Formats: sequence, structure tokens, C-alpha cells
Amino acid sequence: MREWIEQPAAGDLPPEKELINLLLTEDEELLSCLYARARRMREEHYGRKVYIRGLIEFTNFCRNNCYYCGIRRDNKQTERYRLSEQQIMECAQEGYFLGFRTFVLQGGEDPWYNTERVERLVRMLKEHFPDCAVTLSVGECSRETYRRWREAGADRYLLRHETADPGHYGMLHPPELSWENRMRCLNDLKELGYQVGCGFMVGSPGQTAAHLARELRFLKEFRPHMVGLGPFIPQKDTKFAQETAGTLSMTLKCLALVRLILPDVLLPATTALGTIAGNGTELGILAGANVVMPNLTPAEERRKYTLYDHKACTGSEAAEGLAELKGRMEKIGYYVSAERGDWKGEKNDV
Ligand code: SAM
Repeated sequence: MREWIEQPAAGDLPPEKELINLLLTEDEELLSCLYARARRMREEHYGRKVYIRGLIEFTNFCRNNCYYCGIRRDNKQTERYRLSEQQIMECAQEGYFLGFRTFVLQGGEDPWYNTERVERLVRMLKEHFPDCAVTLSVGECSRETYRRWREAGADRYLLRHETADPGHYGMLHPPELSWENRMRCLNDLKELGYQVGCGFMVGSPGQTAAHLARELRFLKEFRPHMVGLGPFIPQKDTKFAQETAGTLSMTLKCLALVRLILPDVLLPATTALGTIAGNGTELGILAGANVVMPNLTPAEERRKYTLYDHKACTGSEAAEGLAELKGRMEKIGYYVSAERGDWKGEKNDV
């Protein structure tokens, strides 16, 4: 295992058994070797910069019923909200002033925010902030809808595949959602020229180390530009309320392995990671992550975007806490970059 960590040919994966052993190991020395290699790899591509994205959670209405998610349609405990176009523009204005050059519009699959309305939003954002990237993360849509948003100026799209195993997908989602359609969406997004992010939850119910090995193989094959991965955290009003959360150590191992197999990937230290551990963001960066996504949503609504229990949304998880985030990154030898932070790989590699 050590030889592979020290000399992974870019993008290579170790044999299945070795990969599973690596995912399961608690050997401190081996793990510090893994994290050090992941850091070197990210530094070769992105230096010690940490890119920031301003996250605008603009609606928590959702037509879907994903079993793990706190904003699922049938959760009657969720207080629903939808930001207006003007509120979204105000969030972006504040973010721009704070130094953000990427806005991520994330939400449930809200039928009110249809193709036309999101298209209008993208156009307005690109017109007012031409030097900024716009990332969309609003779930599964038709190719035509994705095409229109791309034409309106959207640069990136985040759609976690959630699991690379269709059977496991069926355990996490109701029958009307299909793994095949997720894959269709991801392929359409890539073909339309978006910088595409996929990803999965670590420790989701029913997930084994063999599933995680499969995730890594899937990523190597799909070659996304971004990977969003964080621990699964139970939410009290879902059918997985009594399940245990994904662990810090497994999440860090997955981050480092993703960095080794996709050296130039944009890899966030997620809010979920910052939620399960107070120093989760720092540990994520030290395991190879290079992106942080502070929250720009107005405080009152932020509280209602309850994907899981006790979601961190203050301090350095909040856009207004950027100074704190900068200080925390500097303490570990990294610095927050003011750049847009696009993917830096070879175009013809994708
Ligand atoms: N509706 C869009 C979509 O489906 O891509 C974006 C919003 S969705 C809530 C964003 C991500 O939150 C999901 O892809 C899922 O991985 C994550 N998520 C939802 N519930 C979670 C939980 N209980 N623990 C950790 N992550 C969760």
C-alpha cells in the first residue's frame, strides 16, 4: 500500500483488495503518509490556495423525496422558503463585496424556479458580475434545460451521483428516482461544456468499504472537474434518523484518495465535514481539499435549509465569517485566494 501511496501514477488506482485495505486502515503512519502525498499533489496543481465559493441556498422547496434529506417533499416539519430574485441578487452583491468570485445557486428541485426563471437569474448574475463564475446545483433536469442555462452563462454544475451502485441508489431514493437518469444528467452536463461536479456521502446507510472502492473507480472513469463529498449526517425527520453518521476519518481518507486519483480536481472541504468536527475544514484541506463554500444565504433562511441535523452555518461556514476562515487557513499554511478558481486540467483530457 505504501508504494502505491508514494508513487501513484497519476490517476491510477491500486488493486481492489489493497484499496479496500487502505479505506479500512487505522494505521496512523500510513495515513499521515497518505495525507502528505495528497497535499503534495494538490500543491503541484493549485499551490497553497484555497478557493472560496459563495453558497446561496435559494429555495428549500423540493419535489423529491430522497430518504436521507431533511428538505425532502414529505417532511412536513420543514419550514419552507424561497428567496426572491432580488434577495438572490442582494446576496450576490454582498458576496461580491466580501471578495467572492463564484456564486453557487443551490436548492431543492423547486418547480416554481423553472427553466425560464433560473435562466433569467443566471443572465442577471452574469450581467451584474461578469468577472464571476455561476455554479448551479438544482438537481435533475432535461438536457434542453441544462443547455439553456449554459447558454445563459452558467459555468459549472454540481450534481452528486450519491452512489455509483444502482442497487444502493435504490436504497437511498424512492422508486421514481433512477440512477440511470442521474447518469444521463451528468453526461449531458459534461457534453454541454459545464465544469461538472459529482460526489457522494461517506457513511450513507448501507454503504460498505467495497461501495467506496467502487465510488473511486467511478470517479476515475467519469473524470469530473469537481467532487463534492462529505459525511452522511442523520436528520431527525427522515427514515434514516436513527442511522449513524459517516466518520471523520473515513471522510478524510476518501478526500485524500480522490486527490490522488484525480490530481487536478476541485475538491471542497464540505459544510458536513465542518459540522461533524470543529476543525473539519482544516483537516479536509490537510487531506487534499482545495475549496471551501461559505454560506451567503440570509441568516433567517439559512437556518431552514436543514439537510441534516445541527448543520454548521456560523463562523467560518458563513460568508460574513470570511476573516475567521482566512485566519484559520493561514494557521495551517494555506491562504484564501481571491480568484474565480476554475478547474486547471487539460481540456482535451475530459
Ligand atoms: N437538489 C439538488 C441536488 O439534488 O443535487 C441540490 C441540493 S441537495 C440537498 C445537495 C446534497 O446534499 C445532496 O446531493 C446530498 O448528497 C446532500 N445531503 C442531503 N442530505 C444529507 C444528509 N442527511 N447528510 C449529508 N449530506 C446530505
